[in-house]
Amino acid sequence: MKGIVFMGKKELLTIVVPCYNEEEVLPETVKELSQIITKLINDNQIDFQSKMLFVDDGSKDKTWNLIQHYSKDNKLVAGIKFSRNYGHQNALLAGMTTAVQHSDMIITIDADLQDDVNAIYEMVSKYHEGIDVVYGVRNSRETDTAFKRQTALAFYGLMSKLGVDMVPNSVDYRLMSKRAVESLLSFKERNLFLRGMVPLVGYPSVKVYYARKERFAGESKYPLKKMIKFALDGITSFSTVPIKLITNLGLLIVFVGICLFIYAIIRKVEGQVEAGWTSLMASMWLIGGIQLVCLSVIGEYIGKIFTEVKQRPRFTIEEDIYSDKF
Ligand code: UDP
Ligand code: MG
Repeated sequence: MKGIVFMGKKELLTIVVPCYNEEEVLPETVKELSQIITKLINDNQIDFQSKMLFVDDGSKDKTWNLIQHYSKDNKLVAGIKFSRNYGHQNALLAGMTTAVQHSDMIITIDADLQDDVNAIYEMVSKYHEGIDVVYGVRNSRETDTAFKRQTALAFYGLMSKLGVDMVPNSVDYRLMSKRAVESLLSFKERNLFLRGMVPLVGYPSVKVYYARKERFAGESKYPLKKMIKFALDGITSFSTVPIKLITNLGLLIVFVGICLFIYAIIRKVEGQVEAGWTSLMASMWLIGGIQLVCLSVIGEYIGKIFTEVKQRPRFTIEEDIYSDKF
């Protein structure tokens, strides 16, 4: 049963929320998102079957129990549970995969309420203007540490130099229309970097700006180690510039080598034989080091190919209390 006939069919919104050990913030997240969905339904902006879909990414705390609990008496709440921790990006993708058949638009947002939920109104109104992808962009990073700000700035700068089209300061907070999500889901890569993939989908897009807040409760699930891995993944999944740099570096070294060789011959002919030990050792170490770095960059790509060819499933859903709700 869809919509009330005299109001016409409204479009269904699903808000996908990845959760990893988020028991501390979940009650507040459910409360705030419920208010927003209810208001949008009352204002006739979205279908009354619209929902939030929590994706439990193998949490070790009470996150899944809470999702089950809320979904019993709140018809706006639904969830799926992974069989283990598959990571933020896979959780987002699983949420979209599950929701897309019922939804006309999907918003993805983190569970911790760092991204201003009020931007959802503007996102939905942009959707009604015919926009397919609405990026949430932070207009300030005051709540982030100076270190996180600087590294993020460097990262977005580097990505644009490497030729990767990304919306600076956009996190995984965005609205996508059904056709945009369907197109995104047809990307079959295993190494997910949604921030780089979404712009490749095309279709009309706009940005909405909001101020990023502190985490509502709990601590970041992205420690520095995970952040560096995420950044490296982003670079090597989207750009082959590092490989080209190696080629250039190799050519440069060969050139320098030839020059040195000629110089050595000239010195020899002139009869001034070098003691040579220092320079020999220095260059051996230098070249050895450069080779190791180059090998490791190539190794990164081979590793990527390795995971891609295996075509393993990107996630396994153990429980689903979303699909039953329709
Ligand atoms: N998250 C997840 N799986 C993970 C790590 C994080 O689903 O393995 C979720 C987390 O629950 C949150 C979102 O991804 O909703 C972003 O994580 P977090 O807020 O900790 O990252 P930060 O904002 O500190 O970069
Ligand atoms: Mg956060």
